[in-house]
Amino acid sequence: CSYFFDFLISHAKVYGFVFPSSEIYGGLNAIYDYGPHGVELKNNIKEFWWKSMTRLHENIVGVDSSILMHSDVWHASGHIDKFHELLIDHKDSKKRYRPEILIQEYVKKNFLNDPKKKEEILSRLSQSLEKKDLGDIKVLIDELCICDPVFKTKNWTEIRNFNMMFKIRNEKDLYLRPETAQGVFSNFHNIVKSSRMKIPFGIAQIGKSFRNEIIARRFLFRMREFEQMEMQFFILPEEEIKWYEYWKKTRLKWHLELNLGDKTYYQLCDHDHLSHYASAGSDIKFHFPFGFQEIEGIHSRRDFDLKNHEFFSKKKIRIFEWKKNYIPYVIETSLGLDRLFLAIFSSSLKKEKLKNGKIRIVLKLPYFLSPIKAAIFPLVRKDGLPEIARRIFHDMKIRHRLVYDEKESIGKLYRRQDAIGTPFCFTVDYDTIKTNTVTMRNRDSMEQKRIHIKEISKIIKEETGF
Ligand code: ATP
Repeated sequence: CSYFFDFLISHAKVYGFVFPSSEIYGGLNAIYDYGPHGVELKNNIKEFWWKSMTRLHENIVGVDSSILMHSDVWHASGHIDKFHELLIDHKDSKKRYRPEILIQEYVKKNFLNDPKKKEEILSRLSQSLEKKDLGDIKVLIDELCICDPVFKTKNWTEIRNFNMMFKIRNEKDLYLRPETAQGVFSNFHNIVKSSRMKIPFGIAQIGKSFRNEIIARRFLFRMREFEQMEMQFFILPEEEIKWYEYWKKTRLKWHLELNLGDKTYYQLCDHDHLSHYASAGSDIKFHFPFGFQEIEGIHSRRDFDLKNHEFFSKKKIRIFEWKKNYIPYVIETSLGLDRLFLAIFSSSLKKEKLKNGKIRIVLKLPYFLSPIKAAIFPLVRKDGLPEIARRIFHDMKIRHRLVYDEKESIGKLYRRQDAIGTPFCFTVDYDTIKTNTVTMRNRDSMEQKRIHIKEISKIIKEETGF
């Protein structure tokens, strides 16, 4: 797993998908930039989500709210008081840890052959977390003699709450938003009025969120700056269960349609510990290279947010329908764009052994997500072949995302497009001059066949949808 993961990170960098941010200055922990191919893939993922939310559901509209909001938004949402993680510092190494993860990982490693003891400690941890008994968690760490893995000594600070929001110093306190949802709730009134939506209806948004994660790791999985694709669906309070079940089922089906793997690649799990705003929550988990982990959360937020915004803003945030006046309930679907990018990238990246014994690296992305839909090459850089290939490229580049390349031998050009995930390559050769046909090569089967130049655009459109 760790070998594959290192290979994946290096592949993402070498082929222009993801770069460490500020790399020339030594990088920035858990912040990444998307390169030329990465941004195309990411935009295709966004478009797929956006269309399936806003076009396929006539009762879902979009919004693009600002990252910086009035600080009262975060008082009302509970993020200033409750958006905490537990934190413990190691005095010698000055390293920070999340105490519950420290205990869980220690127990997993050291009580492999003693399931009873393991169970006993994890249940004590769970009870202490439930009661928010930070003292007992500290005692547990001391009792277990957990050492700092780096310095192998036991020298811990007390456990404290650590707020995960990034605060910006300004004339007033400002925060970088830790979720996009509050931009929806604070615009609720304007959206209802301007779009004339009736319950049930949803508001979708794609945007950046920021969390000061204590342990940010696993590449794009846990970042400090990331993007979310969220949808808040407003409903009658008495229909909470119906819509909660509906969105769990609908979102799981959406993931399966991406075809990254069959049902065994997904798990739908109810939350043990609910976020401060949620009355019910489920995770859709995906089988990442490091195991099953959350990719999307579905929560029932009931009237938690709108009610608090009414209180803090002193404005009525209500639905007036059929002589009724009420605060609707909310079911939320919250998907991490970068986590989905990682899921798609990791499940598509393959090393294949060819018949001739050589290895080829191929990114078997779903065609419609591929950053580049087709590549056009001349077989050789002479005898008028580059001119014909360039003409084909220029004629079609407005309709499809294409590349023209002539920098290497044809074999190397194919390998490069395989590594980027391009579904089709079209090669102009000497027969093209006589018959107006080109060689079409498919990424997955590597089969080649001759087709007429006139067919190229139709094939790309039919096969990739773009
Ligand atoms: P986790 O338990 O992994 O920290 P969470 O339950 O806090 O996630 P939510 O607040 O429900 O996550 O956020 C919704 C989605 O946003 C998650 O399912 C995930 O895909 C994404 N997400 C959350 N935090 C991060 C992060 N630090 N980096 C990348 N994506 C994230």
